[in-house]
Amino acid sequence: MESQGRMESEGTDRGTDRPSRKERRRLRQLRREREGRRTHRRAALRRWLVRGGIASGCLVAVGGGYWLWAQGGPHRLPKVGDHWHAAYEVVICGRQQPPLAYSPGNIHTHGDGLIHIHPTTPEEAGRNANLGRFFANSGITVAAGRIRYPDGRAYRDGDPCPDGTRGRLRLLVNGEANASMDRYVPQDGDKLRIEFGPE
Ligand SMILES: [Zn+2]
Ligand SMILES: [Zn+2]
Repeated sequence: MESQGRMESEGTDRGTDRPSRKERRRLRQLRREREGRRTHRRAALRRWLVRGGIASGCLVAVGGGYWLWAQGGPHRLPKVGDHWHAAYEVVICGRQQPPLAYSPGNIHTHGDGLIHIHPTTPEEAGRNANLGRFFANSGITVAAGRIRYPDGRAYRDGDPCPDGTRGRLRLLVNGEANASMDRYVPQDGDKLRIEFGPE
């Protein structure tokens, strides 16, 4: 009686609730394989994302580098509290103009051939600290293609110099032509030359 009962219970156990040991092993094996494939896929995705990240990082670096190169270096804008200096000269028809006298405002000159840039208000800082403002503080209008002094002397692109050659207004920043003219924001240490002369 006793042994029969045990056998019966063993039989029930094996037949209905639990899969056989062999089957369990097979299921485990299957699960492992599935896990393995999933891990593999995840690793591949991670690799792909890392490579994509590196590639786009390189693109951003190259693009940024090109931008800086095209701008001629990192162009900074002066903040309130900065104090920068840039040398300047104006040459009209081959004649160097005397340095401007002390001028008002904080984008100004002390009569020393330097532009002193020390903004004290946002109106004089950033893009507002440009050449146009510097010259305007001395009563001189500088714009693309023209320069005009308070004494009435004015030169426009195409006007003749005394020797008969037609002139053009140019801005050179550290020896390089720059089309920004009055909108150019001098950088600390710049050497600027505004010249009106033969094309
Ligand atoms: Zn200064
Ligand atoms: Zn000053």
